[in-house]
Amino acid sequence: MAWARTGAAVTDDDRIGRDEAGAVLRRTLEMLRPYRRGLLAAVAVLVVYTASLEAGPLIVGVVVNHGLVGGHRSARVVEVGAIAYISVAMVMGVAERAQILMVNRVGESFLRDLRIRVFDHILSLSMPFFDREQTGRLVARMTSDIDALEMLVQQGLLVFVTSALLFSTVLVVMAVLSPLLFVVTLVVVPPVVVSSQRFRRDSNAAYLVVRDRIGQTLSALQESLAGVRVVQAFGREREQHERFRARNEAQYEANVHAVRISARYFPTVELASVAATAIIVVVGGLMVHAHLTQVGTVTSFILYLGLLIDPIQQVSQLFNLVQQSGAALHKLYGLLDVAPDVAERRGALDLPRGGDLVVAEVGFRYRPDLDPVLDDVTIAVPHGSRLALVGPTGAGKSTLAKLMARFYDPTDGRVTYGGVDLRDATLASLRRRVVVVPQEGFLFHGTLLDNVRIAAPGASDDDVRQALRTIGAEARFDALPDGLLTEVRERGSRLSAGERQLVSLARAALADPDVLILDEATSNLDPGTEADVEVAMGALMHGRTVIVIAHRLSTAQRADAVAVVDAGGVVEHGSHDQLVARGGPYAALFAVWAGAPTG
Ligand code: ADP
Repeated sequence: MAWARTGAAVTDDDRIGRDEAGAVLRRTLEMLRPYRRGLLAAVAVLVVYTASLEAGPLIVGVVVNHGLVGGHRSARVVEVGAIAYISVAMVMGVAERAQILMVNRVGESFLRDLRIRVFDHILSLSMPFFDREQTGRLVARMTSDIDALEMLVQQGLLVFVTSALLFSTVLVVMAVLSPLLFVVTLVVVPPVVVSSQRFRRDSNAAYLVVRDRIGQTLSALQESLAGVRVVQAFGREREQHERFRARNEAQYEANVHAVRISARYFPTVELASVAATAIIVVVGGLMVHAHLTQVGTVTSFILYLGLLIDPIQQVSQLFNLVQQSGAALHKLYGLLDVAPDVAERRGALDLPRGGDLVVAEVGFRYRPDLDPVLDDVTIAVPHGSRLALVGPTGAGKSTLAKLMARFYDPTDGRVTYGGVDLRDATLASLRRRVVVVPQEGFLFHGTLLDNVRIAAPGASDDDVRQALRTIGAEARFDALPDGLLTEVRERGSRLSAGERQLVSLARAALADPDVLILDEATSNLDPGTEADVEVAMGALMHGRTVIVIAHRLSTAQRADAVAVVDAGGVVEHGSHDQLVARGGPYAALFAVWAGAPTG
């Protein structure tokens, strides 16, 4: 059905202005440079195809004029004409095949490279970006936007380009062939263009409704399925049926309406085309009688008319798709233009091995329009010592930890390691020296071995084993049926929270950083694993500078120093004993914790 060819409907989100469209086009041409040769070849083949398509009517005209009518008609012209016609048709067939392959190959290569570019770019961006952007929107860039382009490449691009080329060149050919007939023919072009535009607009609106109704039917289905137990428990099938039936009916109505629009459009264009033919026959016929033109020329004209009307139809049907693809490219280019917030400075230097980690007069806000989360924080963590950050939820502990690892840059003040501002350090040396162990380590598809190896891609199996041994977890994982070759995702939920923690810690051990930033798990682990995790943390901390966000005061108790963070500032700083003796906020916290039945 022609309807399906119109592709997706266009919402406001899919529209871009003229200037933006121009910019998108320029940039796309720029990005197409690597495929220059393929593109040139495709254009050459396209020209051959169009020329051979247009040669047909011309040959017919010559055959009629010199082979069939007039005083000097010759059978030879008919024979040669037939051979020429067949030859041209064969060339056209070959060119068509070649152009489909060539245009699609260039299009697909472009998309393949665009996908990897966007993917790499997203990965290169820093935390502030991921705070601003929802994952869903990023995924949409890679799915619906790329899909729109994919659809254009597969179904529309070639037709669009050939149609445009055909339309403009047929106009020229007709004008040259007989200016007078050309002008007469032009009379039918405006109605076709106008009704095509109306069709585009109406069918777009209708398709949006269809899309919306499909969504509603699906959501009714989804809800009924999700709630099937409740529905059956209370015998409410009837109501569910009614709800689904109503939406299903609405979807039917929308589809019928959409078809009605197509049903109106296509006969209109057909009619215009017939009317044009009639006009050419009448006017052309009169001209032939008046010896102003020849029968063959009129014949050519009638044949050319088809080549003129078809492209208008094709282009109007593809217009939405083209528009949507333009918008998709615009959004993708916008994403590619986002610069990383945390970037490496030119002439950045490697962080030294070892040194104190110093936070100096740091203030921080996540976004300029948000309140500061940290204000004038100064704290030093001497080389090789352990600092525990404690304080209520939302106080700013994680934020402080993230600044220490340069996931963000401070708004005021600076964070230095071994005297070097983190902003002046190479990112590679920073990630090597400072490693963050999050509360919940993410597990990727693959074996345990591979999951630990993520911390150091070049590490051998033995290195990984060594890391596990360091934190005392080797035996535990070896005891699994497949040992270190256990597929963690398949075991997925069966890997306990504690075991996932151990994987996280093993990654850090493998990375072997100088500074370790640990976010202690808040959730209670099962007692068996808890002890293992404690041992692992102890082993991992050994000989390193450690900052730990402590949720258990036992962790704070074992640290060299404790900083109490509250409302974006460090309100107390000292050793556990000092702070307890002082009788301030920490002492109060500790008293509550120590007195509590569980800790
Ligand atoms: P803590 O670790 O002490 O619980 P956080 O550092 O996580 O505290 O949070 C401190 C404050 O910063 C909170 O008010 C929190 O809502 C806010 N915050 C944390 N992360 C973000 C973020 N990515 N974007 C905006 N605000 C954030």
